[in-house]
Amino acid sequence: MGRTEEPKIDEVKRATLVALIDVAKIFPGGVEALRDFSLAVEDSDFVSLLGPSGCGKSTALRLIAGLAEPSSGRIAWSGEHGAGSVGVVFQEPTLMPWATVEKNVWLPLRLKGLSLRSARPEIDAALKMVKLEGCEKMFPRQLSGGMKMRVSIARALATRPSVILMDEPFASLDEITRFKLNNDLLELKEKTGCTIVFVTHSVFESVFLSRRIAIMSGRPGKVVRELEIDVPYPRNEEFRSSAEYLRYCSEASAALHESIGHNS
Ligand code: ADP
Ligand code: MG
Repeated sequence: MGRTEEPKIDEVKRATLVALIDVAKIFPGGVEALRDFSLAVEDSDFVSLLGPSGCGKSTALRLIAGLAEPSSGRIAWSGEHGAGSVGVVFQEPTLMPWATVEKNVWLPLRLKGLSLRSARPEIDAALKMVKLEGCEKMFPRQLSGGMKMRVSIARALATRPSVILMDEPFASLDEITRFKLNNDLLELKEKTGCTIVFVTHSVFESVFLSRRIAIMSGRPGKVVRELEIDVPYPRNEEFRSSAEYLRYCSEASAALHESIGHNS
């Protein structure tokens, strides 16, 4: 028997997890949000969707989440991953104000039929991931904006989804809190190895976080360019103030400006 070739590292690490293929989304009433939208998300990837307001970023994310159906085209999940295995984090933390932190994180586990007691290990692990140990019994009103967002992320992590979809999660936070959460998100990603699809209209944020940026055109949105940020993780404050970071930011910014003109 012939010796089998060693698989290339890239082939091992980068299997496609979910792909959107020639997707269009037309809303009742006729708004065409997406047209010819294609994107492949790889296992353990960090992909950002970067585009102007109204270009269809949230729509694309909702399609991956299964919260809406494409009008045409398809969304293909790789065999072992069910389409249901996603965690979603929205711009607003959307916590239940009457429930404690731990009960908010329990929600998706409760929906799967787990009691608070049996969900305890998962709740604790998720809160540890977002650095909120000790806050279990607090109520949302007692938390800062950044802490509320951490709870929201913990809730998305609780069921250990194969993909976490984040829709401008840090957009309404002050810059210092946002930087902190960016750093912690990368740390969390390194620890869990999860796949993240992140929506933002911030060039700076997308470059700092992503392995790959999918730059979208104006509406109807589609991916007009993919930019790889070829900088290894972990990335830290040193990267944020490096010449390399600035160079990537100006490249992404130029690509974004070019893409905005694409459909207008
Ligand atoms: P983004 O997240 O990039 O700002 P969205 O995906 O939210 O953009 O929206 C894309 C376009 O689709 C916008 O013009 C928006 O008004 C429209 N749109 C979004 N959701 C709906 C909906 N449920 N019904 C009708 N139009 C919608
Ligand atoms: Mg949006």
